Amino acid sequence: MHALVTGVSAGAGLLLGGELEIVVERLGERRPFDRPWWRCPSCAIPYRGRGLVPVVNSLFLRRGCRSCRERVSHPWRPAVLGVVSAVVLGAFAARIGNDVVLAAYAVFGLSLVAMSAVDFERQIIPNRLVYSTLAALVPLFVLASAVDDRWGSLARAAIGAAAAFVAFLAVHLAVPRGMGFGDVRLAGVVGLATGWLGLGHTFVAFFTAFVLGAVVGIGAMAVSGAGRKTRIPFGPFLAAGAVVTVLWGSPVAHALFHHTV
Ligand SMILES: [Zn+2]
Repeated sequence: MHALVTGVSAGAGLLLGGELEIVVERLGERRPFDRPWWRCPSCAIPYRGRGLVPVVNSLFLRRGCRSCRERVSHPWRPAVLGVVSAVVLGAFAARIGNDVVLAAYAVFGLSLVAMSAVDFERQIIPNRLVYSTLAALVPLFVLASAVDDRWGSLARAAIGAAAAFVAFLAVHLAVPRGMGFGDVRLAGVVGLATGWLGLGHTFVAFFTAFVLGAVVGIGAMAVSGAGRKTRIPFGPFLAAGAVVTVLWGSPVAHALFHHTV
């Protein structure tokens, strides 16, 4: 059963992750979600055949548009989104198992992949993505709490969300250029999803994000000579911290906090 859930989740991640391309493209370019979803960005001719097959369509996009010959700016992005989503959702399922709350973490995982991609390319975390993630996550966590009577987990999720939001808001107000408001909102979402596992997990998630951000930031300065003012998007680090915490946070949180919590 466990292996089946993991396999189905990884497969769903591959398919849905490939379709995240539409979300990442439209939100990144601040365009509406108008149909046809898969089409040439230049001449708007809809893609057909292989252009519609998830993940494989990267091979099709690599050749550029058949009609206007325009090159596609990110031909490999659908395949990367699909493969990363498959790994994240498969790993979440392997960790969480056959549990109602897996639905919430599947949504969380897909959303983290999409937000990281947009933030990495554009240095923005779109409000629409954050709010639609919350609109899906809150009912799913309530459902999981109701099914297994885990209201304590729901309370910790709410506390984790509020604490992370307030802490990041304080950093944003102190250094507005260092920490965008999109990061503050995303921190609230990460606090929610990690808080459901335990408040020690929320701490581990943000600690991991800051350590990864610092290591990569210093590495980038050393390699490229980027100055301290170079804006490095923080969303992908928050996402990485959250994924690491869902997968391996329990032993770390236990080792850190079991004396006090
Ligand atoms: Zn075209």
